[in-house]
Amino acid sequence: MGNKRKKSEKQQQNGWTADPMAVTWTENYNDVISKYWNKVPYSLGKTLATLAVFIVGVSINGDWVNIFVHVTRQWGYNSRGETANNSTQSNLSEITLESLGLQNFWTFWVYSCLVSYLMYYVLGGFLHWYYYVRQRDNAEEWKCQPKKFMSPELERHEITLGSLTLFMNASISALLACYISNGGYSTVYYDIADYGWLWYFLQWPVIFIYQDYMTYWMHRIYHIPFLYRNFHKLHHKYKQPTAFSVTAIHPVEALHIQLMDILPLFTIPTHWFPFYAVALYTYYHGIIDHSGVNFKAYWWQPWQPDAIFHDNHHQYFHVNFGFNIGYWDKLHGTYRRKDRVYTEDIFYGQGKRIDEVSAEELKADLEERESENPLAYRDNKMEFKLSDTELKAMKGTKK
Ligand SMILES: [Zn+2]
Ligand SMILES: [Zn+2]
Repeated sequence: MGNKRKKSEKQQQNGWTADPMAVTWTENYNDVISKYWNKVPYSLGKTLATLAVFIVGVSINGDWVNIFVHVTRQWGYNSRGETANNSTQSNLSEITLESLGLQNFWTFWVYSCLVSYLMYYVLGGFLHWYYYVRQRDNAEEWKCQPKKFMSPELERHEITLGSLTLFMNASISALLACYISNGGYSTVYYDIADYGWLWYFLQWPVIFIYQDYMTYWMHRIYHIPFLYRNFHKLHHKYKQPTAFSVTAIHPVEALHIQLMDILPLFTIPTHWFPFYAVALYTYYHGIIDHSGVNFKAYWWQPWQPDAIFHDNHHQYFHVNFGFNIGYWDKLHGTYRRKDRVYTEDIFYGQGKRIDEVSAEELKADLEERESENPLAYRDNKMEFKLSDTELKAMKGTKK
């Protein structure tokens, strides 16, 4: 009991009190969960947390329904030598779900939404508890921006918006899965022999690079002033993003991205497995990159930026537009630079030179840099920290 009181006093001192509207249920039950969690060995706990992140990523958008469909179709194809259901041409005289090739749509839809939401809340809630509640007092050990937390209002905003967009994406996924499962038009294939092993392996990088480069440009385009103010700004309300931020984007933008992402399913011979493996990878990193936690890429992902890369995008706005390949920003000069100042009002990804900004802008920028966590960077060294000598030299270049 004494321990419990001490803890909440500590939380009070840190300016944080449990919110009765509870950002998630986890805050109210923190002590109970902690009691049990502390009995779990550390390494197992870490594995569970990673697994939770992965499952949230995988379940978002209801893509698991698509995967299920493709698995069953693959199985059906191999055992019978033909796809499972090809009877879409019947009953064209009246417009029904069957005639549209959408037989059993509601079943797809209910499952797609149900599982997406269950995962979003239960596992998103778990992650929130694991880091933001349980380890709130030592944020400097894990958080990209340890001194700053989103307000409960903003967290509720992102969960509401995230849920709405999730509803839309899950519905579209259900539609797509149902349509393909009923034998509707697509360029998806199931037998590797149809296009050979070379194309099978080539597809992995082709799909990954297509989607990532396309998303880079879409994202960059959504950062031009008109589109930014009317659509994308919504996602940038979250200066310290969390796992729930990943789907908290304007529905128009979310739809746009989803439609571009599924293009290969209708244009090039696409084996379902690489397509969804890449999709899962992308979702997984969407969660990681928005979590606000200092996750770093593994040795086998030399193309992948650390989580701080997209966290920087939320902290500094018009810079670092890429997602899973850091190279695009380097190629197009939109990668964050140490000698530039970035704010929400400086558009187009180049920032402003230090000798071009006002004293206030520079002061605000230096404070932002101070609030970052060196542990989120490679070698635990804040890559963008300016020494006094560097700062003097940069100001000195003023003409
Ligand atoms: Zn953005
Ligand atoms: Zn984002």
